[in-house]
Amino acid sequence: MKKGPQILFYVMLFILFISLFRMLSTPPSEQLDYSKFKSLVASKQVKDLVVTQDMIRGVLVDQSKPFRVVRVTDDDLVKNLEAAGVNYRGEISDNWLKDFVLIWILPIIVFLLIWSFIIRRMGGAGGPGEMFMSFGKSKAKLYAESDVKVSFNDVAGVEEAKEELIEIIDFLRYPDKFTKLGGRIPKGVLLVGPPGTGKTLLAKAVAGEAKVPFFSMSGSEFVEMFVGVGASRVRDLFQQAVQKAPCIIFIDELDALGRARGTGMAGGHEEREQTLNQLLAEMDGFDARKGVIIMAATNRPEVLDPALLRAGRFDRHVLVDRPNIKDREDILKIHARGVKLSTNVDLAILAARTVGFVGADLANMVNEAALLAARKNKTEVEMTDFEAAIDRIVAGLEKKRRVMNKKEKEIVAYHECGHTLTAELLPTTDPVHRVSIVQRGIAALGYTLQLPTEDRYLMTKSELQDKLCVMLGGRVAEEIVFNEISTGAQNDLQRAADIARSMVKEFGMTERFGPLTFEKERRPLFLDVGLTGGAKEYSEETARQIDEEVKRFINDAYGKVKEMLAANQDKLRTLAAALLEKETIEGEEIRKILGLPEKKREA
Ligand code: ADP
Ligand code: MG
Ligand code: ZN
Repeated sequence: MKKGPQILFYVMLFILFISLFRMLSTPPSEQLDYSKFKSLVASKQVKDLVVTQDMIRGVLVDQSKPFRVVRVTDDDLVKNLEAAGVNYRGEISDNWLKDFVLIWILPIIVFLLIWSFIIRRMGGAGGPGEMFMSFGKSKAKLYAESDVKVSFNDVAGVEEAKEELIEIIDFLRYPDKFTKLGGRIPKGVLLVGPPGTGKTLLAKAVAGEAKVPFFSMSGSEFVEMFVGVGASRVRDLFQQAVQKAPCIIFIDELDALGRARGTGMAGGHEEREQTLNQLLAEMDGFDARKGVIIMAATNRPEVLDPALLRAGRFDRHVLVDRPNIKDREDILKIHARGVKLSTNVDLAILAARTVGFVGADLANMVNEAALLAARKNKTEVEMTDFEAAIDRIVAGLEKKRRVMNKKEKEIVAYHECGHTLTAELLPTTDPVHRVSIVQRGIAALGYTLQLPTEDRYLMTKSELQDKLCVMLGGRVAEEIVFNEISTGAQNDLQRAADIARSMVKEFGMTERFGPLTFEKERRPLFLDVGLTGGAKEYSEETARQIDEEVKRFINDAYGKVKEMLAANQDKLRTLAAALLEKETIEGEEIRKILGLPEKKREA
């Protein structure tokens, strides 16, 4: 809230009180009985009389002191005054102002005071002052240029996100350079990632790097009690921002506001929808060339209204992922800058011990360690303090989300390496771009990312069979190394079964059925989509045969992979050891570790 209007409000209140007080307190005059007054008139001891409908005021001659008398019905008053030769005048008593103040102003003031008291007690920042001065005005804090002191140096480990944001910074710094060439500048950038990975920090750093003002507001702040307030806040926010362009508008927790329309609980979503509609309208309405970039952050992109993600809105998505071991070390370095470390502290070891921690956890850990050391009156923070801090935070995290233990981590590493090695050994599969055992999202414990070397429109039977092999590779590796299988392969098996079923039913790739398809409608060749369950148009016997064929595809692939990985166990173990150490390995390095050549396809 701005300071100005608040002070103005209190000044007004003060003035009102003063005038009220003066009006209500009668001047200090002596009250006389009417009979006394009458005798004073007779003896000419009064002067300067003012006669109103119900009062007579005047001054006592000998004491030159004011007095007042309540009038009683006295038809002879004027006659008596004339007889005594006292100077007098009439006056219409004007009580309307007093009445007005008493009946209208005073109750309102009392009401406002009580209201402001209640709002304060409820923890709200505003009061009646704000109520009047800025009803519906956005609470967006304006971080003046010098206020944003965060730079990319304060954010570690999100290199890919930084790379994508550099373009935005460039644009904010030199908008002319871009607009001269007529290029379309992105309006909206959505930062997506788990909580605590530094999305808010990153948005601020962009403003800091570009040296532009930073308007920030949380999605939940837009959604208020009163219908229409959120929408007018959005309008106001954009108005303010356009005046300060180039600048950044940052909407934190976009999901609070941008949840898909029509899915909310009863009550309250009316307001949210209005606010969301206003946001969409504003985003479409303003000219990106003015240099206003809208950034938003969310950890639940799946609940967002699709309209928000359409072209011209938040069409650019930047993934802010969990840090891997190297990233964690870098983040620790940043947060240990202001901390006195003992020489026995090794940040690399700490990074290795904090699998699953995000930036916020690490910052928290450093702080916790410093507090622990201070409690023990140490002059430096030692390794033992950090270890105690880790234990404490892990205990907290294990309740909230899964942190893998050592054994699980090993299983996941071998599983992912199984996928990777299979993909690299087979001739037709896409090369592996990255393999990681850093958790991504809620379900996946690790991931193997393959990127095609070219656009594909068709897939051959042997390519599909190889794809099956890669999917089964994870489970096969677990079986070979641990002689045991885990639940981690469930998703792989599901996808493998889908592909095998499609090969049999849709693509007619079996010898038994020949070029026969059992699917009425042809689906696009997008194989990762689950099978659509339609009405069966074949006999039970055929269904059984289809199942057999599917099983055969899977079993053949499984046998092939098992043979292949068993023959390359040394490679599997080397890669898994490297992955356990580094947590994420990029494609080139994978091939270096495995001693395999770069994959190329002839055109
Ligand atoms: P998010 O918005 O993604 O939930 P925040 O940006 O609020 O996360 O991060 C909270 C705090 O955690 C930051 O203020 C910072 O101290 C620390 N932090 C998180 N990620 C990083 C990072 N990548 N580098 C440095 N510090 C980080
Ligand atoms: Mg945040
Ligand atoms: Zn897998």
